[in-house]
Amino acid sequence: GTGSISASGFKDFLLKSELLQATVDCGFEHPSEVQHACLPQAMLGSDVLCQAKSGMGKTAVFVLACLQNLEVSQTAVKVLVICHTRELAFQIELEFKRLGRNISGLKTGSVFGGRPLDQDKELLQPSNCPHILVGTPGRVLQLAKEGLLKLDHLSTFVLDECDRCIDQLDLRKDVQQIFIRTPKKKQVMMFSATLSPGTRDICKKFMQCPHEITVDESKLTLHGLLQYYVRLEEKHKNKTLFDLLDTLEFNQVVIFVKSVRRAMALDGLLQENNFPSMTLHPLPKAFSHKAKKGDVVAADTNRIDRFQAFKSFKKRILVATDLFGRGMDVEKVNIVISYDMPEDSDMYLHRVGRAGRFGTKGLAVTFCATDADYQVLTKVQERFEVSIPTMPDSIDKTSY
Ligand code: ADP
Ligand code: MG
Repeated sequence: GTGSISASGFKDFLLKSELLQATVDCGFEHPSEVQHACLPQAMLGSDVLCQAKSGMGKTAVFVLACLQNLEVSQTAVKVLVICHTRELAFQIELEFKRLGRNISGLKTGSVFGGRPLDQDKELLQPSNCPHILVGTPGRVLQLAKEGLLKLDHLSTFVLDECDRCIDQLDLRKDVQQIFIRTPKKKQVMMFSATLSPGTRDICKKFMQCPHEITVDESKLTLHGLLQYYVRLEEKHKNKTLFDLLDTLEFNQVVIFVKSVRRAMALDGLLQENNFPSMTLHPLPKAFSHKAKKGDVVAADTNRIDRFQAFKSFKKRILVATDLFGRGMDVEKVNIVISYDMPEDSDMYLHRVGRAGRFGTKGLAVTFCATDADYQVLTKVQERFEVSIPTMPDSIDKTSY
């Protein structure tokens, strides 16, 4: 619903005119609750640790705050944003470009694995480097270590999907090593929809007296979203999925599976049955079919192109792993199907948040094949105080 979107406009934030105009150009009418709660402090330069539900515009909080305070005349990387996937890095850079469209001389860039290092070297040339750099931990650290990325003029450090980057130890190590290469005096901001108390404490070690925003877990549920489950046997998943895709009315749908192999297989099956499907997943660790290796590597290096193809509606069905479960913002996605149960309740929340962005309507259908699946579903309902009933025979098409 729109209940969490406040009625007062962006002009109350005293953004510079280029930014205020950009919010109008982007069709932002009213700031969301999290934007009200965070943007003023972020603009003043406070550290920010922000947990707020999916799809409510956390990106615009740090994008607007960073752009507001950016000194474009200085040629140096002033803002570094770290996130866990290439697609998200790309998407965040786009949001900087969109909201920074009226700032003349603004330069942005993104760096992540799967792209030639020479391209990054070119991008980071000292005479012409971007003010804003968005990247994934591994590549950013590599560039910093090789001296190609200079962080000594950094004024703001942002970590998006911060719990993901902190909880996974190899990512945390990279983030820490990047962090120690930045100046002591800087603004630090971190964001996620999910943030356990333990992770929150670790995040705060990177900050000084942060402005903290938390939400009760029970308030993380997206109210525009219809949620159902289907109890079935593993062997009936395909038939059930095909029936759903035939009967449900969707603009775009994301189908989540639990492994890269299953993503490739299900996407293949959907295409064989003439569904407009594509897939996005990381490179599989081992190739089972050597002959196909070339294709798979190509799919990996083209991940951003593929993501853009989906965003621009070239395909209506995306089969994805949890790589795509967090942060990704595709406006036309109104249905999320969990073909395989997410491994925990946090991941459930992130996945279903791909539908119903910014308070719009959506539908989430979750397949439940085992007792373990059912336990995850029970946990979701308890934690987020939401009831997820079994899927009815028919659903009113205007409700999602
Ligand atoms: P989050 O990171 O909180 O999950 P995003 O930052 O990805 O959410 O924002 C979700 C979508 O809402 C994006 O397409 C974004 O451009 C849009 N958006 C953000 N703020 C506003 C606003 N005030 N009004 C309308 N749309 C907005
Ligand atoms: Mg986000």
